[in-house]
Amino acid sequence: MGLLKSKSFSGGIHPPEHKHETEKKAIEKCPLPSMVIIPVQQHIGAPAKPVVEKGDTVLAGQPVCESTGFVSVPSHASISGTVTAIEQRPHPLGPGVLSVVIESDGEDKWVPGIGYEENYLELDKKEMLSRIQAAGLAGMGGATFPTHVKLSPPPDKPINTFILNGVECEPYLTSDHRLMLEDPKKILLGMQIILHLLGASRAVIGIEKNKSDAILVMQRLVAELKLPFEVISLKVKYPQGAEKQLIKAVTGRSVPSGGLPMDVGCVVQNVGTAAAVFDAVASKRPLVERIVTVTGKGMNETKNVLTRIGTPFSFLLDYCGGIQDHAGKIIMGGPMMGLAQSSMDAPVIKGTSGLLVLDEKESRRCAESVCISCARCIDVCPMGLMPKLLGAFVKNDHIEDAKNYNILDCIECGSCAYVCPAHINLVHLIKYGKMQVAKQIKKAS
Ligand code: SF4
Ligand code: SF4
Repeated sequence: MGLLKSKSFSGGIHPPEHKHETEKKAIEKCPLPSMVIIPVQQHIGAPAKPVVEKGDTVLAGQPVCESTGFVSVPSHASISGTVTAIEQRPHPLGPGVLSVVIESDGEDKWVPGIGYEENYLELDKKEMLSRIQAAGLAGMGGATFPTHVKLSPPPDKPINTFILNGVECEPYLTSDHRLMLEDPKKILLGMQIILHLLGASRAVIGIEKNKSDAILVMQRLVAELKLPFEVISLKVKYPQGAEKQLIKAVTGRSVPSGGLPMDVGCVVQNVGTAAAVFDAVASKRPLVERIVTVTGKGMNETKNVLTRIGTPFSFLLDYCGGIQDHAGKIIMGGPMMGLAQSSMDAPVIKGTSGLLVLDEKESRRCAESVCISCARCIDVCPMGLMPKLLGAFVKNDHIEDAKNYNILDCIECGSCAYVCPAHINLVHLIKYGKMQVAKQIKKAS
């Protein structure tokens, strides 16, 4: 066990944390919804393909969509029942997405073959990775990159450091915090599997200082299980949990522009993903549920809820007492990187870490004025970019210039927009600019 140190990265901001609303609330199990919606796209990469038909009966844990390539994962029925439709349904990330709709039989019958196997650490690496893909694992911190791909670095990119991400720097969200307090052993055993797969010599658990109880729990358990893991206390600063910033804080290494963590010998996984790796490898249990923080001034009750994937947002909000009359914007995720939602018929997906309901006042956007060249956006950008310039390039359609000023390195953390006194929606402009650059690159290839 390593010594407690406090590390960080340059840039970043300190938005109000708003964690107290839910950080002390134990995870509650949400009742089963009467219907779930399982979209084919819940991960980065090729969408999965439905393998069931309307009218089929399915068991919980049964694959209903298969992966369509290496960078793709299957999805599973999260309840038992009947497939009532395979059609476009509202999706948290945008317009309608093809989805398998399952009506519950109320029995929660599970597919056979799921159960703990004592000797799971003796499985060969190929079998472990195949179980991780078959379980449909994709980064549960919100990035949703297929886990088996991240854990299969090419031979010319040896990994010497694995970092378990327990930072949860996004305001309001406490699902990872609660998981660390309530099921730390599963996380650490998942981390042990990941370390075995990567062959990394260093394993670090990074947690922000504001979760001192989780730091203590992890330290004690690491010592008790005699695991060769360091627990590192990180400065409370947003976006400490972003991969590149976490790597910088823990190892001092900088991921190069356009590069990946593996370029500097690192892999990062979220605590929820590590727990899911344990379930997948040791029990062949697919990813059919996750913890969601339901919070915000616009909610009647705030909770950390364990809910089945595919549960409609409306069901989850109702379980938490419903939204208040003065509720405003509803966001999937946190206020910095989350996405505003237009339909409460959209389902919880693998990357849904929270549902944040703001009130009317908080939802109001301030009117945008002209840039006063204060450079605050530049000071806080954790990627060392020039948000003010990038925004201006995009506004004036100078996409080539935006590309030359590394717009693609933007991690969309929102820090620049947060501090901008002119209320310029820099992230929106930069996101749009990134799409234009990506189109240009595709056209040229
Ligand atoms: S430019 Fe991108 S990375 Fe930099 S602060 Fe703005 S959103 Fe974050
Ligand atoms: S923070 Fe806003 S006003 Fe200040 S330089 Fe950046 S874009 Fe301009």
